[in-house]
Amino acid sequence: MFRYEDLLKEVEEFKNRGIETGEIGYSVLNNPIPYIFIGDKKGDSIIVTGGIHAREHITSLLVVNQAKHLLKNPSHLIMGGIYFIPMVNVDGVKLCQEGVAFLEDKQIKKNLLKINSSADFSLWKANINGVDLNVNFDARWGQGKSNVFFKSPSNYVGKMPNSEIETKSLVHFTREIKPLATISYHCKGEVIYWRFFQKTKQQLWRHYRLAKSISEVTGYTLVASEAGSCGGYKDWCIQTMDIPSFTIEVGSDKYEHPYPYTDFNNIYNKNADIPRRLLNTVARDKNLVKQYEYNTAKVYEGGNTVSQTSEK
Ligand SMILES: [Zn+2]
Repeated sequence: MFRYEDLLKEVEEFKNRGIETGEIGYSVLNNPIPYIFIGDKKGDSIIVTGGIHAREHITSLLVVNQAKHLLKNPSHLIMGGIYFIPMVNVDGVKLCQEGVAFLEDKQIKKNLLKINSSADFSLWKANINGVDLNVNFDARWGQGKSNVFFKSPSNYVGKMPNSEIETKSLVHFTREIKPLATISYHCKGEVIYWRFFQKTKQQLWRHYRLAKSISEVTGYTLVASEAGSCGGYKDWCIQTMDIPSFTIEVGSDKYEHPYPYTDFNNIYNKNADIPRRLLNTVARDKNLVKQYEYNTAKVYEGGNTVSQTSEK
């Protein structure tokens, strides 16, 4: 299992090799949320996140390994750089993997055990406040079909948009970096979500084309549904920042959560090079936007008939 402490060690190793590392902010329990930057600061950038849902910590291992992969092949990066944020929900991952044992505050422990109705937190998705960070962003907040309005292992939207410090940190960091695109890694289903009420046909067409390029490499299916999930990081990026953003659900539905690490190589092989490819595509692409012609038939193709219509 890939733990928060493993992440800190990996980040330290990047730092020792002269790679820029830092924090996007701190968690509820005041743990730093690290980032790793690889590439050229002068060029364009994208942001890649993992581990926003606690039980999907295999995505944290993926994002760290994507950073290592890029470091091994720096010449493949044509322009700009990539910010890797492997574990957004650092407290949640600790809770999911270790249960309440690591917590000092007895009241917090008691509350969490009550919310979870069990001492087994292996299926926990939320942060330490029982808020699901990926429904806490300010994008049609509270309108998702699975949303709940009480503290819960998953799907609780929080008291208000951006109520959680982890959400605020990612919002602030994204506003500062102004990436050309973002990828949010989740698990599971082998699908890619790319739509969220894009305002213009040109925007829709451009986002679709980028999503299609990721789909072609991973073999994952595009899902055009935009009604199921709201308040996610991808949703906020698209709606507020006008940034093409993709939720990539790695891993096959033939496995149950917690997702088996024995299948990690399968996930890695399909996704290792995705960040570099997306950065290069989107950087080349940005000057061509005006030339795009909207193609209704093609975008419609981006919607499909798979049963999974809300993000996991
Ligand atoms: Zn998820």
